[in-house]
Amino acid sequence: MRLVSPFLQKVFYPALSLAGVFHRTSAIGLAVVTYHGVLPEGYEPVDSALDGNLISAEMLSRQLRLLKAQYHVISPEDALAWLEGAGRRALPPRAVLLTCDDGLLNCLTDMLPILRQEKLSCLFFVTGASAEDSRTMLWYEELFLLFLRAPAGAFEISSEGVLVEGDLGSREQRRAVWWNSVKRLSQVDSVARGLFLRAAHSQFGGNAEADFREGNSASCRRFGLLTRTELQQLASAGMTIGAHTLSHPMLSQSPPELAYAEVSASRTRLESVLGKQVWALAYPFGDPQSVTPQVLAMAEQAGFQAAFLNFGGGLGTALPPYALPRVHVTAGMSLAEFEAHVSGFYARLRRVAGRSAQRAATQGQVS
Ligand SMILES: [Zn+2]
Repeated sequence: MRLVSPFLQKVFYPALSLAGVFHRTSAIGLAVVTYHGVLPEGYEPVDSALDGNLISAEMLSRQLRLLKAQYHVISPEDALAWLEGAGRRALPPRAVLLTCDDGLLNCLTDMLPILRQEKLSCLFFVTGASAEDSRTMLWYEELFLLFLRAPAGAFEISSEGVLVEGDLGSREQRRAVWWNSVKRLSQVDSVARGLFLRAAHSQFGGNAEADFREGNSASCRRFGLLTRTELQQLASAGMTIGAHTLSHPMLSQSPPELAYAEVSASRTRLESVLGKQVWALAYPFGDPQSVTPQVLAMAEQAGFQAAFLNFGGGLGTALPPYALPRVHVTAGMSLAEFEAHVSGFYARLRRVAGRSAQRAATQGQVS
């Protein structure tokens, strides 16, 4: 459950921000922030389900300046030292760690210059695709564009034992078909997924390569994934690299042995390309639906020292090393709402709302 209401966003958070309430909240713990890159100039967002995790370069600068003014932004190495000390080594008050998932090309071309300007470092979680020489794009983004552009009507695609069928009409229908397909295709390996995409392209027409191949175009920076050389450039610029599995499946849907291979091999693959230890993992998608207790156990078993979720973050929240909560930054988030999340205010509000709902339910059962 995420508390989203126009009242909170437009009235409550700005009023509290103005009153300085967020600056006075808990100083304890660590708030980990999740970015997904920056919208490149010239790129027109297609759909909030597709582009809603990327923010403008201007908003990123504003958020980073706010964090520098009100918090202590620690480096990934400081976070590792704190984790290795099992929490004995103290964090500075109001500590914040920056992370960014997926390894899109814009991390290097659009986000890195802003981080450098603000003299901050970030933990970038990339997939096995960024250990390769040729550029590719995320399979689930390719799938989204495919279903968005496909002709309306009922369809059925069958490839290598994977059958997906549905009805494409409204934007909502297309999003629902896409999300069901993401879950279904997470059950198979990346080769079967690639064959399915090829079958879907030949059925619907269109070519995904146009979305990410064109040199340094806005579309390429939005959808293209970092290649091996570009990943090495990001690491040489002082950024830390973490793993995000080999091919970004929803791990809760994958057979356990496939899920473990995705987690474990991404670490060894990236370590061989970077020539250094990869100690952190971010679970793909990272929402409660994607991460089961069995999946959480895999990160430790695969030799990571920390693993990150993509929800529940903010100062003052519990910090289990293999289920570290994060604040998921979205395009629709105002600066005041960002503050409400990072300061831990939102997490407390949610706990109170949860307790009230539980109390109401219990009272309802009794009466
Ligand atoms: Zn991701």
